Amino acid sequence: MKSVRALIQAVWFNGFQSILPKVFLGYSLVYSPTDIMVYGYNFHVLPGVVILIKVLGNRQRLDEFIDFTNKFHPSIKFTVEISDSSNVFLDTKSTLRDGGIHFDLHTKDTDSHLYLRTDSCHPPHVFKGIPKGLATRIRRICSSDDSFHLRSKELSQRLCHRGYNAKSVHESISAVQRIDRQDLLQYKPKSLGSRIPLVTTFHPTLLGISAILKDNLSTLHQSKRMKKIIPSPPLVSYRKPRSIKDHLVRSRLDNPKPVGSFSTCTNKRCKLCPRSQTTSTFKSTNTGHEYKILTNVSCKSRNVVYLITCRVCQKQYIGETEDGLNMRINNHRSSITTGKMNLPVAQHFNQDNHSWEDMEVVPIDHNVSWTIDQRVAKENFWQYTLKTIEPDGLNKRSDTLHMSRKY
Ligand SMILES: [Zn+2]
Ligand SMILES: [Zn+2]
Repeated sequence: MKSVRALIQAVWFNGFQSILPKVFLGYSLVYSPTDIMVYGYNFHVLPGVVILIKVLGNRQRLDEFIDFTNKFHPSIKFTVEISDSSNVFLDTKSTLRDGGIHFDLHTKDTDSHLYLRTDSCHPPHVFKGIPKGLATRIRRICSSDDSFHLRSKELSQRLCHRGYNAKSVHESISAVQRIDRQDLLQYKPKSLGSRIPLVTTFHPTLLGISAILKDNLSTLHQSKRMKKIIPSPPLVSYRKPRSIKDHLVRSRLDNPKPVGSFSTCTNKRCKLCPRSQTTSTFKSTNTGHEYKILTNVSCKSRNVVYLITCRVCQKQYIGETEDGLNMRINNHRSSITTGKMNLPVAQHFNQDNHSWEDMEVVPIDHNVSWTIDQRVAKENFWQYTLKTIEPDGLNKRSDTLHMSRKY
């Protein structure tokens, strides 16, 4: 039985990766073929996908298969290249000729060859490297000098069209041409340089930095220790600066934060209600920053981080509680009225001109599923964020380690 090799191409659309296996599974279910083998697909050939299949049947079976794949989904269009003498894979076209296989460069008709323009903001070595790299690729792929000449001539025209200097492009191609193809096909392990890299964001004014480093190396080498650590000038590596695209386009979608609020319970017996009011925000008296309450929370909510503000001197305290917030505030009240002076809140509201009524409370963070560690971590976070640790606020430094489990 004669086998037919085919290269199927399809236009890309979202979800292709999940649909493709279904196409083949669907085909297997309908035709239960044993004569079509898919031996690879490549998703990296955007905007399409290349599927290599081998048909161990006749041409009719292949046509049936193509017909089936094109009916599977209205958004997928498969095209097929069938040949007995040549085969295209990625950027290589291999042809059977004169009893041997000849390799040539393959580019799609739709390829627009948009090489980096020379007026783009890049270090000069990048523009030197591009012609050399592309010529090297052609040298590796093309098995005959004729095809190398043809493809490098095309390359030269395309590069000049993108603003490259014709003379330097010609020099790069000539230099590559002088290298033996077999030599280029050998794998060469990269040597790890010992020079210390100096990584900096690229800016055209930085181009003299290598020379500056070289010039000042002698100063650095006056120290024996530095000479040992940095024996040769650091290797300058540029990182890509923010492009116009980076400024204009964000990869993150706007994800509006959930909005919550604190609502008082208005129960006459509630000890918290008189000390607070319904609000959706809270403010640091130290930094002046205002924050939004992100969850809905009430007087009776459990697992809460709360903020106490002194109405007299604006000092703030952050605490956490596993019990209902109203119970926790009631405990604060009793510690104040009974004068438990070892506790920071009781100590503060027992000062002159202060009383328990000067306390204003707002729950700022809440999650019913917090563990104690998570709640304490949140409490620490808010203490640092709102700057409530002494001397700025009322939280003791030790509080941040052993949270206010005591009243
Ligand atoms: Zn209440
Ligand atoms: Zn105060």
